[in-house]
Amino acid sequence: MRKYIVIVGGVMSGVGKGVATASIARIIQEYGYKTTAIKIDPYLNYDAGTLRPTEHGEVWVTFDGGEIDQDLGHYERFLGTNIPKRNNITSGQIYKTVIDRERRGEYLGQTVQFIPHIPEEIKRRIEEASEGYEVILIEVGGTVGDYENIPFLFAIKGIEREIGKENVLYILITYLPVPRHIGEMKTKPTQQAIKMLQEMGIIPDIILCRGPTPLDDVRRHKIELYANIKREYVISAPDVDTLYEIPLNFEREQLGRKILDKLQIAPRKLPDWNEWEHLVNNLKHPEAEIHIAMVGKYIEIGTFKLKDAYISINEALEHSGAHQKVKVNIDWLDADKLNVEELQNYDGLIIPGGFGIRGFEGKLRAVQYVREHGIPFLGLCWGMQIAVVEYARHVLGWQEANSTEVDQTTRYPVVDFIPNQRELLHEKGYGGTMRLGAYAAYLKPGTLIYSLYKESGRIDHDMRLPLPMERLGKPLNLPYVVERHRHRYEINPTFIKDLERAGIVFSGVHETLDGIPLMEFMELPDHPFFVATQAHPEFHSRFMEPSPVFMGFVRKALERRLHRTS
Ligand code: GLN
Repeated sequence: MRKYIVIVGGVMSGVGKGVATASIARIIQEYGYKTTAIKIDPYLNYDAGTLRPTEHGEVWVTFDGGEIDQDLGHYERFLGTNIPKRNNITSGQIYKTVIDRERRGEYLGQTVQFIPHIPEEIKRRIEEASEGYEVILIEVGGTVGDYENIPFLFAIKGIEREIGKENVLYILITYLPVPRHIGEMKTKPTQQAIKMLQEMGIIPDIILCRGPTPLDDVRRHKIELYANIKREYVISAPDVDTLYEIPLNFEREQLGRKILDKLQIAPRKLPDWNEWEHLVNNLKHPEAEIHIAMVGKYIEIGTFKLKDAYISINEALEHSGAHQKVKVNIDWLDADKLNVEELQNYDGLIIPGGFGIRGFEGKLRAVQYVREHGIPFLGLCWGMQIAVVEYARHVLGWQEANSTEVDQTTRYPVVDFIPNQRELLHEKGYGGTMRLGAYAAYLKPGTLIYSLYKESGRIDHDMRLPLPMERLGKPLNLPYVVERHRHRYEINPTFIKDLERAGIVFSGVHETLDGIPLMEFMELPDHPFFVATQAHPEFHSRFMEPSPVFMGFVRKALERRLHRTS
């Protein structure tokens, strides 16, 4: 029998529901169960592809080409498995499916109604995403009491009715604020969240109490009384230094055992947290520190800096830091205001993914500076395209070189649409025109990229993954790795020979089934570390299995740091 763990949020958003879900999933996996997690997003967007990162955080890309909510990223980083796009369910998908079906006449003349048709479609999707798993976590986005949540909670109650209460566990995540003028932790918002959940017919089995400090006995007792929940099921979840501490903290309260008991299943194996604990320890007691400059665009909203827009990059750096006992400090620098000399004070530069003209020239100057001054550089997608434009301008002397995303009339379109992308864009408008998801990159032995992937074991791992033909491309008789993509433009095949002659080594390539060569990785052999990729390796970096590209970058940044300070 499948078991479901339903996670709902009370009080407010942004309290770490995604990370809590990921942590619980990891715990259950440690007890020997096949575990996955589903994210429900009650918004009407079909997926997160068209959402502005400043509004909603990063767009996460799944291996099968989904553009979805960043919480799926947490699930993968904690679980260490690939989670497909069907694990993100939005209201937009539900309504669109139901309405399309109605248009096709598949309801055979019935009146199509909110109940039963909407919850039925929700249940169908939950079941589809659950196939092959024993314990499935369902994180319901938003906060209890939101109108938008109702159909999902209703559908989940339906599942409970069908399979029995012992197979569905509800966890409420609340927040207990400590208002500064009172200096005391308040339970009232939590009491209200419990009440609202009860109005939906749901009594939480477990309450996770987020807050700036641990829950004390007085508060625990209060929640016990008001929610009528035994105190051992009221779990304290205070703020932590690193997210990866959270499953360890939960286990200190024996959360895993409590969940298994409630679901009436026994541990299949004893959890082994040794390696995990060791890595968390490295993060808490690093031996060195490095400072990385990230030059991006989605930087500030109002007076707040939005770190979530690049969350996977931050996490990938943290993973590499954990494995090398280094604290990685990141400064977000605004491309438009950057004085490139400042980069001298950093141990490395990252140019992350991006779109459009704003900030382009500033980023390009930053890349020129680190190339000329031997500062470690990592270019991700847009970062690689900018690196190629910079090289064409300043090494090949093609002053006008550009990406056609920035200048459509340039004489040297070194970055351009690949032909079938142009057709797609014409046909489909803006949504759904990108090259999305996992593609193979065939690596050239003897290059830096090859050695980084080889050393990590990723080549052997990735070559065993089942990959559809169009994602594999033409077999090039070389070892390959699989990384995720989200872009419309490519390094223009017309100029590859010139760029190579001028010194760029394209260390990884993909050839489409119709024979177009796509440059996936580049490096400059005369530079301490100048690596860029058309892919987003940050989407395949896990706590226990850091991205080889980031590992190499952090290692070189650390070398520079030690050199700089010695
Ligand atoms: N704007 C570039 C493209 O569409 C890069 C995209 C990205 O960095 N994700 O190809």
